[in-house]
Parts: sequence; structure tokens; C-alpha cells
Amino acid sequence: MTTNKLDINLKVGLEIHQQLATGTKLFCQCRSNEDEEYTLDFSRSLRPAQSELGIIDPAALFESKKIQSFRYLAANRTSCLVEADEEPPHCINREALESALIFSLALNSHIADEIHVMRKIVIDGSNTSGFQRTMLISMGGFVEVNGKRTGVQSICLEEDASKLISDKNSKREFGLDRLGIPLVEIALEPVSITPPEVMQLALGLGRILRASKRVARGIGSIRQDVNISVEDGRVVEIKGVQKLDQLVKVIQYEANRQHGLIIITDKLKNELGIKEIRCDNGIVDVTDILRRSSSRKIIESLKDQSTVYKAFKIEGFAGMLGFEPYEGIRLGKELSQLVRFYGIGGIFHSDELPGYGITKENLDSIERKLAKSSKNDAFIIIGGGLTNVNFAIESLIQRLKAVLEGVPAETRAATPSGETIYIRPRPGSARMYPETDIAPIKVDSLLLDSLRQKIPRPIEEYTNEMISKFGLNKKLAEEIFDSQYLNLFEKIVSSTKISPTFVASKLTEDITNLERQGYDSSLLSDERVLEIFNELDKGRIAKESVPILYEKFMKREINRVEEFESGFETMTERQLEDEIEGILNNHLDAINEKGMNSLGMLMGRTMAMLKGRSDGQKINKILKDKLEQMLALREQ
Ligand SMILES: [Zn+2]
Repeated sequence: MTTNKLDINLKVGLEIHQQLATGTKLFCQCRSNEDEEYTLDFSRSLRPAQSELGIIDPAALFESKKIQSFRYLAANRTSCLVEADEEPPHCINREALESALIFSLALNSHIADEIHVMRKIVIDGSNTSGFQRTMLISMGGFVEVNGKRTGVQSICLEEDASKLISDKNSKREFGLDRLGIPLVEIALEPVSITPPEVMQLALGLGRILRASKRVARGIGSIRQDVNISVEDGRVVEIKGVQKLDQLVKVIQYEANRQHGLIIITDKLKNELGIKEIRCDNGIVDVTDILRRSSSRKIIESLKDQSTVYKAFKIEGFAGMLGFEPYEGIRLGKELSQLVRFYGIGGIFHSDELPGYGITKENLDSIERKLAKSSKNDAFIIIGGGLTNVNFAIESLIQRLKAVLEGVPAETRAATPSGETIYIRPRPGSARMYPETDIAPIKVDSLLLDSLRQKIPRPIEEYTNEMISKFGLNKKLAEEIFDSQYLNLFEKIVSSTKISPTFVASKLTEDITNLERQGYDSSLLSDERVLEIFNELDKGRIAKESVPILYEKFMKREINRVEEFESGFETMTERQLEDEIEGILNNHLDAINEKGMNSLGMLMGRTMAMLKGRSDGQKINKILKDKLEQMLALREQ
């Protein structure tokens, strides 16, 4: 079953977070590169006051109790005392400010006369100071993609947060390199739209930003959040979508999930006549009953003396936890995801029992203990450490009580496969207060007039220019434009004599192929790519070596091209001929059978053996000559 946007009135509000390519950070002179070789570390404990949490929410309370300390890892080039919150912020990075103003002009957004830096409270440890600096640059305006206008709500300039490295038990580790990298946040108005249209919109907006040549590239340099709602539901915020095809899947999944929840509510109210969810009448301990179960997992977990199993019933809910209005959408699954937040693997519920080693006898005992009188009642079993179980049950009850409201307002995270999982209830509007260390910044009309000259031109102008200037075909011109390698492409073709078509295809197809194999292209810096093409231009490496070098950088096998070059002795002509003769002699049968038609196959074999050690054209010529000689000799 797929959802139709007209049926459910799917509304999607896109929010794009784009890192800027400024060289230095927003409020200090550290390099704004994500650097993974950390040499320094320090720890902080950050205990938010209850009032700062602003909400009486079991998740926030649990989190604030759980996390005892934060550890920050840093490197000298990318962090200083500003990131450590030991020194006030320096002046704002003018280049970043100008970029944000240019984007506002490009999107017809109303720019504020005076820009005020604000502090937004952050309690998860991702900012050493406990707040994130952000400033509103402009409001309103629109983006036009494929002739369709979508309204802009606001454009903000802010500092990126630290990078979460690990989150185990009560310790959380962050990398400070990302903290303070300038980030532009563009929030679009929620619109009725299909998932593929959202992708076009995101792509179109991304193109406008890239056309400015002022944005960073690499995994994580552009992140999309989406606000999604359906008819009669509340707005759900999805965080951390990194790829456009993932965006389409996430929206489709969320449309199904939200509409599924509304179908569940409808069934409860109208078919089962439930007017109020009753699920908090008596929580019982069922640890001893489950000790007698045949579930290896449960028995194993009970070896830990502190593990308890508790159960509670939900009146009139039989069949509703396993009910699946859409494939993979069940209330039981929602609740299972919810408890993971508390370090609990999941729940058992009565719609799926007996099963998982929990027997009919176990169930009878549990039902007696729960005083479950009606077979219309459902129940949930949950196990773990006592504190975690108690928090989780509180959270489950809160969630169940909201079932009749349909879709609760919450924040969820996108999974790489395109589903979404619960993170926390949706916070009210973020608490903000002025940053007193930085004076308001006046925006004068003279500055705006000069920036107007820098508004990126329409995309077609760029691609047409690339077609006429570099002889690229349209597809390749668009691909290089969308690839985040546009700047690099222009740098390479202007500084070398290598064919622009070759450069473009190596920067798009070859890198995409490696990304598909799971390699991280952000490990391949612009500097290194430039070095590769310079070496190729000087004839020091073969064309075939380009993707091999990419791979070696992405695997962190080498740090410089030199290391690769010194890794093998460049073959002499004589050695090359010997190698090729050897290969020909090993394939005599094929040569006898196919004659010159065996050339392609032989070329493949030869390239596989001599990969990167000699130039392909040279190999091809020697191979062809030798094969011709061989066949001529045979005919005599
Ligand atoms: Zn710094």
C-alpha cells in the first residue's frame, strides 16, 4: 500500500544545513576542516538545571541523569581556547557572513538591518559551552525549482556542533574539529508535495548554494532535516538525512507511519469504542515467572542480579499492538524503539506471545498476576536494570496515553535505510538569549549592493558555459555541477593540460563508484586530488592510477602521492614487453581461436596485472603490436 498525498495531505518542510567553505571557523581562526587525528583531550561535566530542560519529560530527565561526563578530542590546527570555551569568541568571520547574505539575496529573503548573535541552549554536550551561537540573517523569500516556487521561512548563520564519536554508558565522546564551522540553515515553508518533488526541491536548492562556490563538500557537509505531517497529525521532525535518495525513502516511510498511526487511532475510537487509554493500573514484577521461561536470552539476562522484568496491562488493546496498517508499521514496533533510548533491547507484547521462549504457562501466570480479567486486554513485558525499566515504563505509559491523539509531535532520526526512529519528544521553541560577547552587526546597503554582484547565476548558465568552454557533454556538465567538485574541476583544468572530459569523469563516476563501495570521499582532500592530476600531467603516473590512488587515500593507506610512486619501480620498456609476452604465452588457446578478437580480453588481463604501473595507451600499443606479430608468424 502506498500513500497518496491527496488522501492524507502530506506536508513537508525542508530544512537544509550547509557548511561553508571559509577556511577558518565562525568565531576563531582555527581551520574549518574536519580533522580526525586528535592529539588533545579533556573532559567536562555538564549538568543542565531542570529549568533549562524546560520540559517535564522522562527522556530528558533520564538523559540528564545518565550522562555523567563528556570527553572532547581535539587537534591543534582545528581547535583553540574558543572551542574549549576557555576564551570568548573572536570577531565574526566576514566571509561566512557575506556567504549567508548572498544566499539571502539569491532567495529574495528580507535581510535584517542588524544581526544579533544569540545563544541557543544545547544540553546534549555537543557544545562545550552548553549553547550554540546562531543568528537570524533574513526571513521570507522563495526558491524557484522547475518553475515552482517554495516559500523560505528563515535563513540563519550558525556554528556547527561537535561531532559525536561515541556514546557508551554514561560517557559521551565528541570531536571538536567540527565545532564552530560556519553553517547556513535555510528553512523552507511546509508544502503539500510528493517525496520525489521534495528531492527535486532539495537538489535545486543545493545547486543554488553550490553555484556560489562558497560551500564545503564531503559527507556531512550538507544535512537535511525535514518536518513532516499528515492530515490530523502533529508535526514530526526528522533529523540527519544526508543523501537525497534517502530523503525520498524517509518521507515515504514517515507518511506511511503517520497515516498508519491515524488508522490505528481511528480503529481504537470507532471500532473498539475506546475513549481513554487505561494502562497504569498496577505494574507487576514478573522476574520469577520468566526465570521459568525457555528463552535463552531472558535466562542469560537474569544472570545479572540487577535485571528485573516487569509487566503492565493495557485495557481493551488486544490485537492493537501487532496490528499493521502498513507494512512494517505497528504500535508494538513504535514502543520497542521507544525503550531503546533507555538502553533496553525492546518489549514483548501479548499480540506476539506465546513465543520467543515465553510459554503458555508463563503467560497464564503473568495474566493471573496482572489480574487480567478480559481477553480484550493486552500487556507489555519489559526487562533490564531497575532504574532503566522504571523510566522506560513511565515513557511507554506516556506514549500509550497519547495514542488516541494519533501522531505525537516528536523528533526522530533518519536511518541509512530510510526508516525513522524515535529520539525525543519535540521540544518547544528553543530557549535563546543574546550572546553578550559579540556586538550586533549592522548590515548597510553599500555592502548589500556589492554582494548583489556575487549572487550565483541560474544553473543553466553554468552548465552551458561548461559545455562550450570545456567541451563537456550536458550530462557530464550537470554531474560535475552536482558533484561538489566544481571548484576543484576548474582548478585542475586551468592548471594542467589534461582533457576536461577525463577530469570530469574521474571526479564524478570514479568517486561515486568508490562511495558506493562504502569508502568515505571526505578522506580524499582537494589538495590530494590536485596533486594526483598534477602528477598525471607531468607523466609521473598513468591515467589508470587515478582511481587506484583515490582508493588508497580513502583507505588511508597513503598520505601523499609520492608514497604511491615510490611503492613500485616504474617499469622500463623492456620489462613491460617481457610481462606482456608472458601474458600472451599464457593465452595461446584463446589467441589461436579468436585471433585479433582476443585483444580486448588480453588487454583486460594485462591491465589487471600491471594496474597503475604503466600507461594504458602504451600497454595497448605494445600488446597490439605483439599480438599482430604473433598472428603473422602463425600464418606463415
Ligand atoms: Zn578555534
